[in-house]
Amino acid sequence: MMDGWMQIAEVGRRIVRSGLASSRFGNMSIRFADSMLITRTGSLLDEIDPSQVIEVDLEAASARDALASSEAIVHRAVYSETSARAIVHTHSPYAVALSILEDRLDPLDGEGRAFLGQVPVVEGAFGTAKLARNVARALSQARATIARGHGVFAAGGSLAEAYSMACMVEHSAQVICIIGWRAKVQG
Ligand SMILES: [Zn+2]
Repeated sequence: MMDGWMQIAEVGRRIVRSGLASSRFGNMSIRFADSMLITRTGSLLDEIDPSQVIEVDLEAASARDALASSEAIVHRAVYSETSARAIVHTHSPYAVALSILEDRLDPLDGEGRAFLGQVPVVEGAFGTAKLARNVARALSQARATIARGHGVFAAGGSLAEAYSMACMVEHSAQVICIIGWRAKVQG
């Protein structure tokens, strides 16, 4: 647990630097035996210090949840239904755009095909039980999912791996959009 906030701070800087989310949007968590470490509500992802991460129980919501990201309910559901050790949530623009138009993202690029696979789009408003249920169900079978019109939830065995999955989702979404533009130009 000791260096958990440092991992979160490092990945938070990478998320903002790589354009996967603006500083104020998105969140992350790391799972421990009975708890998870999650970014605080309203935290700036590229300015994380120990005061900007909150430890909450894995089992059930408690008073401390009020301090945690409003998506803590989603993270908790994913940890209860999958073996994920970390989750990265971004609002990356190409993935969000594609999720408004499609019911899933089928990567066309080699990396996405080999390491990411199909990414389902799920329904549910911000911070709701419905979103939590749908994201958890999707992540029990896929490396990442996109909440429609909202953002990407990517899971992994570590925070670095979850971040890498979130990057792949955005890259695959960009490739699909670029191919779509070309088809329009030629059409
Ligand atoms: Zn979000």
